[in-house]
Amino acid sequence: MAIWFNIALWKRVVAALILGIIVGRLWGPDAESLKWIGDFFIKSVKMLVVPLIFFSLVSGVAAIGDLRKLGRVGGRAMLLFIISGQIAVWMGLFLGTIFTPGSGIDPDSLPKVVKEIGDIKTWQETILAIVPESPVQVMANVDVLPLIVFAMLIGIGILMAKEEGEPVAKIFDSGSVIMQKVTMVVMELTPFGVFALMAWVAGTLGYDALAALGKLVLFNYIGCILIIGLIYSAMIKFLAKVPVMDFFRGIVDAMAVSYSTASSNATLPVTLRCAQRNLGVSQSVSSFVISLGATINMNGTAMYLGLATLFGAQVFGVDLSWGDYFTISILATFAAIGAAGIPGAGLIMMALVFTGVGVPLETIALVAGVDRIMDMMRTTTNVSGDAAVAVTVASMTGELDRAELISADDI
Ligand code: ASP
Repeated sequence: MAIWFNIALWKRVVAALILGIIVGRLWGPDAESLKWIGDFFIKSVKMLVVPLIFFSLVSGVAAIGDLRKLGRVGGRAMLLFIISGQIAVWMGLFLGTIFTPGSGIDPDSLPKVVKEIGDIKTWQETILAIVPESPVQVMANVDVLPLIVFAMLIGIGILMAKEEGEPVAKIFDSGSVIMQKVTMVVMELTPFGVFALMAWVAGTLGYDALAALGKLVLFNYIGCILIIGLIYSAMIKFLAKVPVMDFFRGIVDAMAVSYSTASSNATLPVTLRCAQRNLGVSQSVSSFVISLGATINMNGTAMYLGLATLFGAQVFGVDLSWGDYFTISILATFAAIGAAGIPGAGLIMMALVFTGVGVPLETIALVAGVDRIMDMMRTTTNVSGDAAVAVTVASMTGELDRAELISADDI
């Protein structure tokens, strides 16, 4: 027992990930019987999302003490979200144009998985959805964006109430510390959850479909790796002025959890903990930037939407003009912002981009069979991006405690 706990959690998580893949490959589709352990883990972390955001965001906003500073944090975060999102979509468009993942594919020869697309929200509806109609309902539905709005308003209210707000601020401070401890306990489940989810994915993956769509999957991975390796590394090195390896060492847990769960929302408690404990980002900045980022900052998804649109156009022989490329870049940005941090959200959001430039919606059914494996990588990219922006904004606004930064040499 002591030996187990003496091994750093991130090492146990990485080992579990690799072991899960091996077991899944050897065991085959029967590895599905392990999935419940993964679901148990996902449910346990999801349980933390609402109280964690609520307590830490209210106490974070109250602790920042100054609304102008909050504006500076928010403004910088939004700017970095938008710039990195645009670079990501164009990366997808670039890879799709140069390497044509859809050429030579006969749509009739591929298995199709029909997906329920549902109603696509208009932009007015998307804006309306940010306002919480009832805080309780928002919490019950784990609706992150309106919850952030509500928590921020309470934090601002506490600041405005001055001395009279202090007792409530103290309750939120204490609640936030308690939630961090609870997160620590739940995170001990991570190696088991990651192992089971990886075994399930590796055992049940449709390898035939994977071979047929190999080029698309490959460039989805290459695009994501380029975003993480180039864009985030540059942001960390030049804007945050933090050693790049220390940054990645600090977020290993979040990367492994996002890869195995394919859900930014479910990973949120882990990302928050990595940012605060391993990277030294203050509670105010981390709770605000990472909760917001988990729902609106999705660079992996944005890149994928660009790539997949070109893939669909190539498979079905749709000619796209330069004007269409710009339309895709705008629509993909909105779609990535609107996508929820849950598995497969990017797949559904494709519909929004495809309809904008006349790519057949059938493309969604073609790629659905291999979406999970691509989703895992884009979620890792999305989550790493939230952490990168949090560190950068914290560094820019004097909210980064460099003494807390875990060094990559501490292995
Ligand atoms: N699963 C992704 C996430 O949670 C969204 C997507 O499907 O692209 O970040």
